[in-house]
Amino acid sequence: MKIRKVGVIGAGQMGAGIAQVCAGIDKEVILCDINEEFVQNGINTITSNLQRSVTKERINQEKMETILSNVNTTIQNGNLSDCDIIIEAIIENVNVKKKLFADLGQTTKKDAILASNTSSIPIGILAEASGRQANVVGMHFMNPVPVMKLVEVIRAKTTSDETFNTTFKLAKDLNKTPVLVNDFPGFVSNRILLPMLNEAMFCVLEGVAEPKAIDTVMKLGMSHPMGPLRLADFIGLDTCLAIMQVLHRDMNDEKYRPCPLLIEMVKNGKLGNKTGEGFYKY
Ligand code: NAD
Repeated sequence: MKIRKVGVIGAGQMGAGIAQVCAGIDKEVILCDINEEFVQNGINTITSNLQRSVTKERINQEKMETILSNVNTTIQNGNLSDCDIIIEAIIENVNVKKKLFADLGQTTKKDAILASNTSSIPIGILAEASGRQANVVGMHFMNPVPVMKLVEVIRAKTTSDETFNTTFKLAKDLNKTPVLVNDFPGFVSNRILLPMLNEAMFCVLEGVAEPKAIDTVMKLGMSHPMGPLRLADFIGLDTCLAIMQVLHRDMNDEKYRPCPLLIEMVKNGKLGNKTGEGFYKY
């Protein structure tokens, strides 16, 4: 199947990046969010990313304008009915995502691929909600999308060969490196990464060291490019908590218990970079 038109739902940090890279390879893109303000935030993110690339002479002004002209916006899922693939990048909440997939199962064209950028929720759950199990796949980009090469392509038990192969090829066309991953909570990336971030938070809670010291240990001692607490702020503490809750519930293992400090910070609206405060101030 040829992908000509891409719908992206959720114009936050991931959705904006996904729309940008798809528009960058001349796909027609429709970026959708729940209201005009959020859609405009997404367009602003894409514009400032591209402006930075122009300043650094990675692309010229003309290319920037072409990419922007490839992105249209909507606040109605119904306007994605002629898209060949819809990539969902809304909040990490299983019930909200299930409702969206049920809606997409009704409103998109019959052979459209329904892909989720979820960080942790098993794709099989979303496939079942959509009523179009063969067409549903995971397409897990990394943050920031325009920079990071990896895409985990998650194959649920019901994903058809055609859905999987087309999605895998799209990731390659985007100049990414797709990796096949089977459908388990957190996949590979977040099954391994998030428990480490969570443990760093327990170190703060128990007074093992200050956040900056913990990050320095992991950067200089383990050659991590970014410390775990800085990375958690960057991902978004709400997203980190949602992922830990999925791991805890679906793996049914206390080793995935979300750190109480993480729960408290999310409750207090300290979500990291996006709210200006998390383990650090921005
Ligand atoms: P975000 O909070 O920046 O953006 C989420 C956007 O979704 C918001 O603009 C919100 O208005 C919109 N939204 C919520 N419900 C919606 C609905 N029903 N219809 C349309 N739009 C809706 O979140 P994000 O960091 O971009 O994460 C989005 C998804 O990507 C999550 O599933 C997350 O787990 C996953 N993800 C995040 C990262 C990361 O580092 N942040 C990395 C990989 C994957």
